[in-house]
Amino acid sequence: FPIIRAQSSPDLVPDANFYKVEAILRPWRIQQVSSALLKMGIRGVTVSDVRGFGAQGGLTERQAGSEFSEDKFVAKVKMEIVVSKDQVEGVIAKIIEEARTGEIGDGKIFLIPISDVIRVRTGERGEKAERMVGGHADMSSALSTS
Ligand code: ATP
Ligand code: GLN
Repeated sequence: FPIIRAQSSPDLVPDANFYKVEAILRPWRIQQVSSALLKMGIRGVTVSDVRGFGAQGGLTERQAGSEFSEDKFVAKVKMEIVVSKDQVEGVIAKIIEEARTGEIGDGKIFLIPISDVIRVRTGERGEKAERMVGGHADMSSALSTS
């Protein structure tokens, strides 16, 4: 698997310990994006089917010759990924690498600072709640100690 170097992202404003990477992408690229993220230890991901329009405008996606939407909105998938600050740039770079075709309609990524993370099962907050067993941080520390 690719080694994603920790990047400090010192310029992110406002500053936070965690950020949500919210990516609006082409539906048929989601499988490729999510498996690449999984390989780098990103295990917490939420996806939703959404519709929208941007520069792609009324141009509908076509798959197997049939249109996804009948109006001016184009079917997209929204991926929401909450990560720690040092993982933000690696996740963004991976999404671009896997989702980009170079054609209009590739999508957009929004970065949102997150105040806190709470794990419902345990009530843990902050880093304890955001960390996932076998996740990216575990993989990185295993690499640096071996
Ligand atoms: P537990 O250890 O109690 O299972 P968990 O941290 O593994 O807690 P889940 O309960 O498995 O969390 O997560 C529930 C849902 O929350 C997931 O299906 C996913 O949609 C979403 N989710 C969890 N972590 C993240 C994250 N870091 N970013 C985005 N979505 C997440
Ligand atoms: N930051 C978490 C970790 O390193 C992973 C977050 C995620 O999978 N979205 O364990």
